[in-house]
Amino acid sequence: MRRALRGVSASRGIALGRARVLQPRALSVEESRIGADEVPAELARLRAALDATRAELRALRERLHGALAHEVGEFIDLHTMILDDPELLQGLEDLVRTGRYGADYALRLQRDRLAAVFEGMDDDYFRSRVEDLDHVIGRVHAALHRREGEEIAGLAGEILVCESVAPAELAAWQARGVVGVATSTGSPLSHSAILARSLHLPLLVNVPELLAHANDGDALILDASLGELVLDPGPTDLKRYHARQAEIGRERAELARLRRQPTRTRDGVDIRLYANAESREDVAEAHGLGADGVGLYRTEFLFLQRNELPTEEEQFLAYRDLVLGMAGRVATIRTLDLGADKADRTGLALRSEPNPALGLRGVRLSLAHPALFTTQLRAILRTSAYGPVRILVPMVSGREEMLKVCELLEQARAQLRTEGHQVGPVAELGAMIEVPAVALGLGDIVDLVDFVSVGTNDLVQYLLATDRNHEALAELYSPRHPAVLRLLAEIFAFGRRNGIPVAVCGEMAADAANVPLLLALGLRDFSLHPSTLLEVRKAIRDADHASLRRRATTLLRCHDRAAIERWLDRC
Ligand code: PEP
Ligand code: MG
Repeated sequence: MRRALRGVSASRGIALGRARVLQPRALSVEESRIGADEVPAELARLRAALDATRAELRALRERLHGALAHEVGEFIDLHTMILDDPELLQGLEDLVRTGRYGADYALRLQRDRLAAVFEGMDDDYFRSRVEDLDHVIGRVHAALHRREGEEIAGLAGEILVCESVAPAELAAWQARGVVGVATSTGSPLSHSAILARSLHLPLLVNVPELLAHANDGDALILDASLGELVLDPGPTDLKRYHARQAEIGRERAELARLRRQPTRTRDGVDIRLYANAESREDVAEAHGLGADGVGLYRTEFLFLQRNELPTEEEQFLAYRDLVLGMAGRVATIRTLDLGADKADRTGLALRSEPNPALGLRGVRLSLAHPALFTTQLRAILRTSAYGPVRILVPMVSGREEMLKVCELLEQARAQLRTEGHQVGPVAELGAMIEVPAVALGLGDIVDLVDFVSVGTNDLVQYLLATDRNHEALAELYSPRHPAVLRLLAEIFAFGRRNGIPVAVCGEMAADAANVPLLLALGLRDFSLHPSTLLEVRKAIRDADHASLRRRATTLLRCHDRAAIERWLDRC
């Protein structure tokens, strides 16, 4: 029966495909017992499923290519290790042979036992292994129920339907031909969402009814741009899908004409468009679209999904690729921003903080590990010999932190020179403006920075006391809150008065609909993922800068979101 479900767009795009429903993480399997005579067959079934899962992980590993191969590969290796763990295998066999449980129920019991052991451990690293255990058990469970001859590789044309998706999994699914993803939970600001945009994979999140209604094999139309998922679409839906596809194609062709056009308003004001780039593909795309440089390179992606820290050499090579890829345009490398929702496997970021968003993350974590931070600073400084590089520090809350960063940076520079390394003439230093305290106290750090970049994703959450990843607070979490706009206007004005370039690199700058607001408030430097760069360029080219600036006073007098929306409607 046709059913349309609403969700939140996390990565735009439209797809038509079959549903591939993934079991929620905790297996809910009914208790099942078998007779003594059924034991050999059940064991054979279990072993076949384990073998199939091993082969599936191997095939996935071989099929990986591109910039994410390393990151995703580590994730797959870990899952292979869990799958081959003698304790897991022996426990499963015993449960079937001695306990006379069906393979499904044995899987569930063994999962619960191991999860309890992991969860009871004092070590954050082991506690976080439960999620990986669930991924592996979920795969074996799916293999147990795969029909004879059914090909796991046959995912091409499928839309993944699940509770949530981890960043590394996303790339792996896409490599297997998945054309879109819908999840029952999640937020457009999560790292999976950021990565989905980078992969151009349509992603719809926070579709509450999803798992209750979608079944394996259902035909689905996923319109992640409009925030809609249609199950079992009828002829009218299909017609509309084809019309939407044609419309999106026309829009893309139209936008493609702007690839080499200047980013200039109708009345001749030049605006700079930088790219947020994480992968080599992003960098190539940014360069191809004529971005003014990379405004945000999130280095934590190098630290995720791996068990040991990347060495200075490894970091140097990754950053150098970025600098070379931008061919003389500036590359802004953000120092490590682990913590909160960006947990790593190396055990660096704490996992059990009561308030992770307010905890040991960003520059706080780096300063708590000066040797690690110095390694990163050295790697960045070394790349400055290959092109213009800027260093951006996340989660700064005051002068003391910036002073310590400057001190470590100077030490690293001196060390490198003594060791005979080539270091570029300058590497500008900037602070992310994400913590309201520093947004209100820019004067305290002005002599220590060459530029600032406003991270609205975090600034909005801290200013409005609203978790950026909380589905139930999606309405409240809005960069179009009057207090956010007022604070932004102050920050931009401060930059102008003091000759400090100010960019916005949060998702607010990636939404073309926000362009009139940001121009009116005085923003000149945008930094956004290349996937929406041309749309934003178009909105800027359609805007009249002088008239928007004249209307800023009215905008800043708005007392609520509705008034701000009305202001926008009149643009
Ligand atoms: C931000 O907070 O706006 C930002 C760009 O950083 P991240 O999304 O990586 O936290
Ligand atoms: Mg941030």
